[in-house]
Amino acid sequence: NTRIITIDGPAGAGKTTVSRLLSQRLGCVHVDTGALYRGVAFEIRQQKIDWENDAALEEFLKDLDLNFVIEKKALALMSSGRNITNFIRTPDITMLASSSSAKPQVRAALLDIQRNIAKTKDAVFEGRDMGTVVFPDAAYKFFLFADLNVRAARRYDEMPDEKKDIRRVQKQMEMRDDKDSRRKSAPLKPAEDAIKIDSSFLTIEQVVERMIGIIEK
Ligand code: C5P
Repeated sequence: NTRIITIDGPAGAGKTTVSRLLSQRLGCVHVDTGALYRGVAFEIRQQKIDWENDAALEEFLKDLDLNFVIEKKALALMSSGRNITNFIRTPDITMLASSSSAKPQVRAALLDIQRNIAKTKDAVFEGRDMGTVVFPDAAYKFFLFADLNVRAARRYDEMPDEKKDIRRVQKQMEMRDDKDSRRKSAPLKPAEDAIKIDSSFLTIEQVVERMIGIIEK
């Protein structure tokens, strides 16, 4: 049996950094499931799929071939054998990932990929529905959140480009959280048995320490 730890929460709450550090401390892998939804969005754009048309979407999903490989100790996202890790973080792909992830067919197509990884490896899984849908029996479930303005400021600080605009970052984040929370299939919400952590006034290290304290208790 593998040990699965889940971290869900809204955009910019610190999930990715926390999951990476936590997995290093525990000596297991970290799986960023948002990358899979971004991979779907990337391929929708590449192949110019009319994804709001159910027949076209289903045809597309049949041939979709996403998986993770370990590259330089981190997981790289492969699509039909091509490493697309560096192409999935643009604002356009981010918003399309959020819209298309509301489609139940998309969520169903990614479910097995996620569960198959968990069969053979201890892992920290990060996403929106890890504790609620994908791994209801996870050993530990965390829900990480923070004030919107704190999350927007963090995302803004990470952005490399010169034309960045904090109000725009905040607006887009708010729209995305709203979409992710209101959708019918697997909406963003804490699992009933999730441990909630507000990271607004905590450093990444403090969040990780708190989690380690709970796991090793
Ligand atoms: O976590 P990240 O910001 O990379 O996720 C991108 C989008 O993918 C989210 O806004 C959300 O709509 C979707 N997602 C999801 N379920 C997950 C992970 C991500 O619906 N488990």
